[in-house]
Amino acid sequence: MARNAVQFQKGLSEPAFDRQYGTEEQCRAVVVAARWPDGFWCPACGGREHSMVTTRDLFQCTACRRQTSPIAGTIFASTKLPLRTWFRAMYHLTQSKQGISSIELGRRLGVTQTTAWMVKHKLAQAMLERDATKPLTGRVEIDDAYLGGERSGGKRGRGAPGKTPFAAAVETTPEGKPVRLKLGRVTSFCGTSIAGFAKRSLDPACTVVSDGLQCFASVPTPDAPTKPSRRDRGRPRPARRRSSG
Ligand SMILES: [Zn+2]
Repeated sequence: MARNAVQFQKGLSEPAFDRQYGTEEQCRAVVVAARWPDGFWCPACGGREHSMVTTRDLFQCTACRRQTSPIAGTIFASTKLPLRTWFRAMYHLTQSKQGISSIELGRRLGVTQTTAWMVKHKLAQAMLERDATKPLTGRVEIDDAYLGGERSGGKRGRGAPGKTPFAAAVETTPEGKPVRLKLGRVTSFCGTSIAGFAKRSLDPACTVVSDGLQCFASVPTPDAPTKPSRRDRGRPRPARRRSSG
């Protein structure tokens, strides 16, 4: 199913949630719409024509007769839990910043702590995988970083031999609090290499904040030119933390 398709409005009240996602049919309709936004599509032959096997809640392809469950291959398929329990879990887990314990989640869902833990774990994993593919967006601070290559008496700083260069990009809140981080190994800090990292990791519409190397100026964000970092304005920048070798 399409990633990130099921999203709950922040601050949705519990009665409002129940009205929208309180029954198995409502939840199922959301999953079906997320999985096949343009209508049923047979995973075996690509056929669109289908009938319903209502007794088993399956879609049957008219062309090849293959029966497909709308939850097959999704995290929802891994348990016997009703979809509405999964949806309730998503609701409760996303309503507070701190999250809730699996004991508390189990109590709210009416399932054992073990089941609640498993649900929580699977949802967290799904969010992690979604985040891994999602480019950084909004305000993004970008900098160069280095790993390893320590050699006694060797050259220090950026050009030191044996060091592995990385581009580090951090998505932040407008106030500068870090939200998500992406690291990408780069061959060097040349414009081409950094542009490649930016293309893989950053949303083209993000606002890149960098005070570093000239190459970061080449990060392709046509709508949002590179701006000097807020922390650089008005006071001298503290020594940059770099690996020294
Ligand atoms: Zn088919």
